[in-house]
Amino acid sequence: MRAEYSGIGVVPGRVIAPAWIMPPPVAAPQKQPAPQDPEAEAERIREASAAVHAQLRERAETVTGDARDVLKATALMAKDPTLIKTAIKRLTSTDAETAIWEVAAETAAQLEKLGGYMAERAADVLDVRARIVAQLRGVPAPGIPHADAPFVLIATDLAPADTATLDPESVVALVCAEGGPQSHTAVLARSLGIPAVVAATGVLDVTDEADVFVDGAGGTIRTAPGAAEAELVTAWQDTVGRLQTYSGPCLLKDGSRIPLRANVGDGTQAREAAAAGAEGVGLLRTEFCFLDRDTEPSVAEQTRAYAEVFAAFDDHKVVVRTLDAGADKPLPFLTDTDEPNPALGVRGFRTSRKAVGVLERQLEAIAAAARQSSIDVHVMAPMIATAEEAAQFAGLVAAAGLPVAGVMVEVPSAALQAGPILDQVEFASIGTNDLTQYVMASDRMLGGLAELSDPWQPAVLQLIRMTAAQGISAEKSVGVCGEAAADPALAVVLVGLGVSSLSMAPRALPAVAEVLRSVTLEQAQRIAEAARTATSAAGAKAAAREQLPVLEDLGL
Ligand code: PEP
Ligand code: MG
Repeated sequence: MRAEYSGIGVVPGRVIAPAWIMPPPVAAPQKQPAPQDPEAEAERIREASAAVHAQLRERAETVTGDARDVLKATALMAKDPTLIKTAIKRLTSTDAETAIWEVAAETAAQLEKLGGYMAERAADVLDVRARIVAQLRGVPAPGIPHADAPFVLIATDLAPADTATLDPESVVALVCAEGGPQSHTAVLARSLGIPAVVAATGVLDVTDEADVFVDGAGGTIRTAPGAAEAELVTAWQDTVGRLQTYSGPCLLKDGSRIPLRANVGDGTQAREAAAAGAEGVGLLRTEFCFLDRDTEPSVAEQTRAYAEVFAAFDDHKVVVRTLDAGADKPLPFLTDTDEPNPALGVRGFRTSRKAVGVLERQLEAIAAAARQSSIDVHVMAPMIATAEEAAQFAGLVAAAGLPVAGVMVEVPSAALQAGPILDQVEFASIGTNDLTQYVMASDRMLGGLAELSDPWQPAVLQLIRMTAAQGISAEKSVGVCGEAAADPALAVVLVGLGVSSLSMAPRALPAVAEVLRSVTLEQAQRIAEAARTATSAAGAKAAAREQLPVLEDLGL
C-alpha cells in the first residue's frame, strides 16, 4: 500500500532508495535481582561483547582513514577484559544488563575525572555500553544504521554525535519526524548536500528496507514509488547537471552585484567553498572547530584552525564569528548545562561575562592567523542584543589589532536597534535561524513548531527589512548568513528587502545564483514586497514563488 508523508523540505533533491529507520537510544535497564544461573548470564555478557566487537571490526573494514581507526579502537573497547570481568563479578547482585550499564558508567566517570584526551573517551565507553546492552536485549544497535547499499535515513531527529558520523555516500536522503527547518540537523544536511525533510509527522511508520521516494524541495515522502516518481528523479538529475558549476560573481539580470559567500566550520569546508566559487566566507562557525572539546583550545591550536580556513582563499574576505556556544551547541568550557532556558541564557557573546579571557584569547588567535594571510579578515560576535554590547565587542576587536568588527543580528532587539548598533561596528550579518526562533518565540529544534520557525514569516521579513534599511542609511553592509539565504526563492526576497550579500552552505550557491540571475533588482523588490505584506508564512512563500517561474523549471 502506498503511503505519503509530508514535512518541511529543507534541502532540495529527489531520490528513490530503501529506507532505514534510526533505532531509538538504548534506555537504562530496570535493575533485576541476581540471576539464578550466574554462569549462563556471564556467558551472555561474553557473547554480547564478542558480537559487538565483531560488528565494529566488520564496519571498520568498510571505511578508511580516521573513521577506520576510531571504529577499531571502539571495537577493542567492546571486549575490554576489565569491563567484562568487573561486570561478571557484579552478577552476584544484579542482572547482566544492569551490571554492564553500571560498570561502564563508573569507567566513564573515572575517565571524565582524568580530563583531556581520556575524558573524551568517556563517550566511547558509553557508546559501547549501549551496543552491548542492545545486543543482550536483542534490539538494533543504536546510532546510524549500517547498510550495504545507499539508503534514506529516517529518524526522530539526529543528535550532534550522530550527525558527525553521517556519510553522504551511504545516506542519500535524510528524513526526520521532528526538527525544525533551522535546526542543526538541517544545517548539516545542507552542508553535506543531502536532500532532507524535517517535521515529517508519522514517517517513523515506514518499514526498514521499503523503497521510498523523497523530494527535499517539496517536503514529500512516498512509499512504493512508481513511474511518476522515477520521472521526477530523472528530472532532478537534469537539474543537478545544469547546476553543477558556479563561479562568481553573482549578478542580477540588471547587472547588480550580490556577493555570495559560504558558511563553513573548518578548513576542509573552506576549501570546498573556494572550489564551489564562493566569494569568501560570510560565516565561519568557530565553535564547530571545537565541539568535541572539553577544555578551551590553546591560542596556538586556534591559530592553526583559523589559518587553515584563511589559506583556502587567495583574495576575498573571511568573516570569523567568535564562539557561539550555548543552547543546542554547548561547549563544556563555556556554558552551563543546568540553565533552565538555555536559548535565552548565557550563550554567544554573553559567555564573555563569565568566562573571562576566552574571547580575548580567541581574538588573539584570529589576529595571529590573519597576520599569516593576505585576505581581509572580519570578525563578528553572535547574539548581540544592545548597542552597548556591540561597543564592548568593537573595543576588544580593536585591542586585538583586528581592523573590522561586526555583529550578528539574531536577537529582535538588535534588528530594532540596528542603527545605534551600526554606529559602533562596521557591518551586520542577519542570522535568520535564531532571529526567527526569537521573533516567533519558537524553538528552532522543535519539529512540532516548524510552521512558526519559518523565516518566511512576515514578521521576520519585516525585521529583516528594518535592519537592511538602517544599514543603507548608515552606509554599512547588512548581509544574511542564516539558512534563509540558501533558499533560492527567499534569497530573491532578501535581496529585494535591501540585504547586500548572502552567505550559505557552498552546495546551495549554484541554485541561488541561477535564480537571482533571473530577476532585476526592481523585480526582487516587488517580489519582496509581496512576501512581506502577506499575512502568513505560506502566503509569503506562495506570493514569491508565483513570480519566480524559474523555480518550477528547475524543480527547486
Ligand atoms: C543563525 O542563527 O542564523 C546563524 C547563522 O547562526 P547559527 O545557525 O550558527 O546559530
Ligand atoms: Mg545563530
